[in-house]
Amino acid sequence: MITCHEFSFQGFVNSLIMHEIRIAEDLSAIVLQAARKENLVRVTKVSISFGQLVQIVPDIFEFAFREIVKNTIARKAKVDIEIVPVKMNCNSCGIDFQLTDNNFSCSVCGSADLNIINGKELFIKSIEGE
Ligand SMILES: [Zn+2]
Repeated sequence: MITCHEFSFQGFVNSLIMHEIRIAEDLSAIVLQAARKENLVRVTKVSISFGQLVQIVPDIFEFAFREIVKNTIARKAKVDIEIVPVKMNCNSCGIDFQLTDNNFSCSVCGSADLNIINGKELFIKSIEGE
């Protein structure tokens, strides 16, 4: 018997993993396209930056990436993942601050009127190969 609770929990796990797979597919396509353009015979290292708000699980991402590139010139590439902390700017008092937990309010005045400066980005810092 499947209870509602178990069923929805399963869906939640799947959607989390899908997030990493989708990003890994997009990034691997960009890596392979760039490698082809540079006439590389193999990709040795890929450095990727994720904003903290992208909520990537590095191990799952790397696993998904490896699966996707396993029959390509990037199959032996080292994957270097950097998580960029969330930086906010307060519209009320003007201060910049770093988000330390999931408390989305200004660390000085407590306002919730905030702009996100860093933390949503996702980009390839470098692709190394030969
Ligand atoms: Zn403030």
